[in-house]
Amino acid sequence: MPAKPAESLPVLLEYYDALFQAHGEQHWWPGRTPFEVIVGAILVQNTNWENAARAIANLRRAELLTPPAMEKVPRAKLARLIRPSGYFRQKARKLHELLAFLRREYRGSLAAMFRTPTAQLREQLLCVHGIGPETADSILLYAGKHPVFVVDAYTRRILNRHGLAHEKESYEEIRARFEKSLPTDPALFNEYHALLVRTGKHYCRSRGALCSDCALRRYLPRPPEPIA
Ligand code: SF4
Repeated sequence: MPAKPAESLPVLLEYYDALFQAHGEQHWWPGRTPFEVIVGAILVQNTNWENAARAIANLRRAELLTPPAMEKVPRAKLARLIRPSGYFRQKARKLHELLAFLRREYRGSLAAMFRTPTAQLREQLLCVHGIGPETADSILLYAGKHPVFVVDAYTRRILNRHGLAHEKESYEEIRARFEKSLPTDPALFNEYHALLVRTGKHYCRSRGALCSDCALRRYLPRPPEPIA
């Protein structure tokens, strides 16, 4: 189904209101410090949050949840500790590459890194090994409070089922659509993404949508799909 033209997308704000009314604050992202949020954004790649959280708990026990501590730890030990998150060798390399970038560009200071203008920092992060758009935007929004909208598979599925995005639309096109349609407010982007995740997990499931219980039901362009 073709995407609706951008001018018809104030509906995205209505979606947010409906979701917030139904579910309230989601208290995302679960991380005690900006660095922990960054680590979580990498560890959650290709796995679920429960597995990433087990890896983070290991890092906390080993007192490695600061940039200097993690930078110094041998790669093999880091990989062993984050094993529960899967792809642990690759993720250990990604963490070390990100820390090398932080040291090189910002003398190891996250505060200095997050003072960089959003577009410039986004470009830099996308050049770091293993940091794709979703991870970069999660770091920018949830750790740095920069106004970027995080697009994930749940977001795509919901928009697609509502006729608001093409199946093959790019990450950047969908991100731009949200950012043009909403006030530039990191707190709003934060809450909205979390609400979409909740909706995708519990209602808009890949194997069958539970539309009759979903807060977005009234916006469906056609009758709900049958449950598989
Ligand atoms: S579950 Fe149904 S109503 Fe809810 S977002 Fe998915 S398609 Fe829309």
